[in-house]
Amino acid sequence: MKHFIGIDMGGTNIKTGIVDLSAGEVVHASVTPTLGRLGHEAVMGRIADQILETIQEGGFSTADIGGVGVGVPGVLDLDQGLVLFLPNLPGNWRNVALRRTLEAKTGLPAALLNDARAITYGEWKFGAGKGVDTIACFTLGTGIGGGLVIEGRLHLGIGGTGGELGHQCIDPNGPQCGCGGRGCLESLVSGPAIAALGVRAVLQGRTTSLGSLAGADLNNITPELIWQAARQGDPVANEIYELVGDYLGVAVSNILVTVGPRKVILAGGVAGAGDLLLNPIRRRIRLQVFMMPADQVEVVIASLGANAGILGVAAWAAQKLAK
Ligand SMILES: [Zn+2]
Repeated sequence: MKHFIGIDMGGTNIKTGIVDLSAGEVVHASVTPTLGRLGHEAVMGRIADQILETIQEGGFSTADIGGVGVGVPGVLDLDQGLVLFLPNLPGNWRNVALRRTLEAKTGLPAALLNDARAITYGEWKFGAGKGVDTIACFTLGTGIGGGLVIEGRLHLGIGGTGGELGHQCIDPNGPQCGCGGRGCLESLVSGPAIAALGVRAVLQGRTTSLGSLAGADLNNITPELIWQAARQGDPVANEIYELVGDYLGVAVSNILVTVGPRKVILAGGVAGAGDLLLNPIRRRIRLQVFMMPADQVEVVIASLGANAGILGVAAWAAQKLAK
């Protein structure tokens, strides 16, 4: 079986991995800065160059590679292979023919997928969701992404836009969300939203170790610093994760009753909070969900770590390009 390439196209770095799909492993990988300020043509050129360099560095030739999957942090038209909207990259990414450009520059067939759907597919193929027919995955980080696998198939919706679990409304009177909506899950539990809760507690003069842990620079207050404080027994930090976990629990409950997944997976950096999130999520599910057997649903932390997206989008390209 040929190897496939998976690309994690981030706002800061582009990570490229050569994936052995039968082993579910990245066998060679490289990282290069995205340099998004140079514009979309330059970024696409950098991705194509990196694909060819990574193949060579790994001791492969293009004939060994079945195709390229690109995990893109934005809204796509999967049928046309277009990028419609990339909120986290500068430049004009509206209606950019990313798939066709990469195919022309590398001579390899390519497939695009939203980055959170790539992580979902990776966790389902190789990680915490392996062998489970229906899963939901939340990616918790600077933004909140998501994805669904329903009865053994990645759910795509219109042009691949289905599964934006982070933009379900939790509070219609809540904060403005970056997407244009109001009170989305993302506006309440993103990394910056969690950090802002910590900053506010310090500024309000509440009794908490967060100020001293941050070394008097409030910019040092991150979700990770807050969960460290919570584990050391800081009551304010614990309260923050109770609140964030409860919001997530509302979102998970919505997915339980609409989709009926057997497993819900939390991926991304903020999922490092572990039980600090899982406990309030499970509590909210017990209070909220009665119309499906919630006791049969596992809520777990993802297992693949930072390679989930590369593995997932490579596997996605393999199955998409086989048709
Ligand atoms: Zn939103």
